[in-house]
Amino acid sequence: LQGPFQLSLISVLQYEPFSIPMSHSIRVAVIGAGIAGLAAARELRREGLEVVVFEKSHQLGGTWCYDPRIESDPIGSDPNRDVVHTSLYRSLRTNLPRQLMAFLDYPFPDRPDGDARAFPGHEEVLWFLNKFADEFGLRGLTRFGCEVVRVERVAGRIDSWVVESRTGDSVLSREIFEAVVVCSGHFTEPRVPTIPGIEKWPGYQIHSHNYRVPEPFRGQTVVVIGFASSAFDISRDIAQVAKEVHIATRSPDVKVMKLANHDNMWQHKMVKCVSEDRSVAFDDGSSVHADVILYCTGYKHHYPFLETNGMVTIEDNRVGPLYKHVFPPALAPWLSFIGIPERDIIFQMSELQCKWVARVLSGKVLLPTEKEMMAYVEEYYQQLEKDGFPKHMTHYLHFKEVGYCNWLVAEAGLPPIENWREEMYLESIKPLYLGMADNYRDEWDDAHWNAIIKDASLAQ
Ligand code: FAD
Repeated sequence: LQGPFQLSLISVLQYEPFSIPMSHSIRVAVIGAGIAGLAAARELRREGLEVVVFEKSHQLGGTWCYDPRIESDPIGSDPNRDVVHTSLYRSLRTNLPRQLMAFLDYPFPDRPDGDARAFPGHEEVLWFLNKFADEFGLRGLTRFGCEVVRVERVAGRIDSWVVESRTGDSVLSREIFEAVVVCSGHFTEPRVPTIPGIEKWPGYQIHSHNYRVPEPFRGQTVVVIGFASSAFDISRDIAQVAKEVHIATRSPDVKVMKLANHDNMWQHKMVKCVSEDRSVAFDDGSSVHADVILYCTGYKHHYPFLETNGMVTIEDNRVGPLYKHVFPPALAPWLSFIGIPERDIIFQMSELQCKWVARVLSGKVLLPTEKEMMAYVEEYYQQLEKDGFPKHMTHYLHFKEVGYCNWLVAEAGLPPIENWREEMYLESIKPLYLGMADNYRDEWDDAHWNAIIKDASLAQ
């Protein structure tokens, strides 16, 4: 680790490491067949473990399976609503270049009839994941249409879990697994801020989870809350048909102003309050009469199937305690979570977490003791607090755990990651912080980066 989170507990504390008896193959349940679940299935099987992937939908790809449906409750507060898993909108293009939307040893290929853009559309990512699954025989390990409804430890055993699952015909089945790897994603449960006056505000509220296409917003005045990629994309998408779009962000440098190159878009400071007459007032003193508030305000971690008797909790979006965002110390290595951290290269990070988990479960890599892992987590939390990061940012890697992927590489005994990946990542997220040009994806210098990648591979 680098920066403020440089901890040296592992080397300082004495090891009494956990080790796995190698007398038989461990049976592992993987929950979810998105990027994380597919990577987990491949790595676990590479280590000779027996794998069953449970996938509640009828296809693999998770988030990357576009679904035109929206939920009955557009802000997702009704716990009994029928949940649509994906949050993709129809026009979505990746927010990272294609070279980073791939696994370390399995690059994103070009295909003659595909989307060759540097930042391709979502269909291309789904195509890639299907290709990956076919290449590594992962479809055959997956039970489609099979939702995990309960995961609980067998009483008195740490290495034995009951996994209860339900198929479309509502048949419940119960099976025992030694280990469970949770890969169920965390971009489905909307996180919505409470705005003073909102209970009487008469307009329409929707979270970006339920945004698909701009047509329903034709001729309307829309307030979009948020500053990340979704807010950027969706506000531009809607502005093509809306009367006015007003973007409200928490960003400290923002002044109220009309956006260059747009007739109908403004930016503001955060929403201060709303009123019965449809008005929306902003912290910068401006206000508008709006028809719609569209929340691009992120998502909540949600594991409704998981019963750990309080050993893993979610508090203000902190899933914990988790050693290195993966293993709950008291249940390690038999329970693990893949893909929880945000603000990093998701493909590479999930793949490396999977390699680490697989190597720990196969006995090749040792974990510190429960006490040591717990001490690490506590120190991490204290450091977060000291640096002024709120709890809900516990799993944001960017700025805090800069060397996380390199740490995973070292821990799992893997070859180093090529430098161009981190450089490309930092370059590609610059527009988010420096103010994005509308066509930032198409201004990307792909030829320049391809030359760097070529040089790097020749130098190896
Ligand atoms: P998911 O893709 O969510 O997959 C989880 C799977 O688990 C799903 O298939 C789901 O059906 C299944 N599941 C859930 N619960 C159960 C259960 N109880 N039983 C059985 N199955 C279950 N990342 C990038 O790198 N680049 C991008 O450009 C990018 N754009 C994004 C845009 C949007 C709008 C969103 C929301 C996210 C974006 N991301 C992007 C992040 C993206 O979520 C990750 O890239 C990645 O898809 C996460 O993969 P995952 O496997 O962890 O989760």
